[in-house]
Amino acid sequence: MSLAQRLSRFAARHIGCRWLPLNKARGVVSFSFDDVPASACHQGAMLLERYQARGTFYVCGGLTDGIEQNQVCHSAEDLQRLQENGHEVGCHTYSHTNCANASNDMLTADWEKNQAFFKQHNIADCGFAFPFGAYDLGSKLAANKRFSYNRITGGGTQIGRADLSALRAQSLYSGRTNMDALVALIAHTASQGGWLILYSHEVSETPGPWGTTPELLETALQLATQEGCQVLPVHRAIDFFLAPL
Ligand SMILES: [Zn+2]
Repeated sequence: MSLAQRLSRFAARHIGCRWLPLNKARGVVSFSFDDVPASACHQGAMLLERYQARGTFYVCGGLTDGIEQNQVCHSAEDLQRLQENGHEVGCHTYSHTNCANASNDMLTADWEKNQAFFKQHNIADCGFAFPFGAYDLGSKLAANKRFSYNRITGGGTQIGRADLSALRAQSLYSGRTNMDALVALIAHTASQGGWLILYSHEVSETPGPWGTTPELLETALQLATQEGCQVLPVHRAIDFFLAPL
């Protein structure tokens, strides 16, 4: 990697941060779903609701009623039902755009297109997740102006403080999740009053490389509950951490 690239990555990570203190006695685990295959709206949401939990679903309007990675995507009605049942719906760009190195004009046009899609279907826009977790300093600052928070991918759990401009998230993928590591991550989050955001895509007995089985999702829900964590969607988790002690 060139020096310029390294400097740019350093700047993207360290400039434009919005720190949220995590100083509650209890830890929080959030469950999120990107791109939102129909199975996440159905099996995924149903499982969460069985545990009195709600999730956050990051939607690209360009994928609505479509097929992605051989997965049937959500419909607008699916999103409305999620919202009615207390889940959160967030923006994931309209076209699943890689925001790193995208021009400001292109990002603005894309975000506005997705926001118009949400408005057309009476969906409240609640936060943002960068597709592929990809961002640079320009897109981070632009997203900061538009969204109450931005979620990235990777980085594990968050202890002590979280950057609302680049919230970390841990993948929940059946093919790749190490059970011992997941148990340790949730226990650490609980004991330190931290915040773990998990993300996946489809919820299926035969998931692709970026999805989860219902069993793994349920195991994560059980672990979070057993460890005494609150399970909250992302925006409600921010409100929880912001509330006076
Ligand atoms: Zn995505």
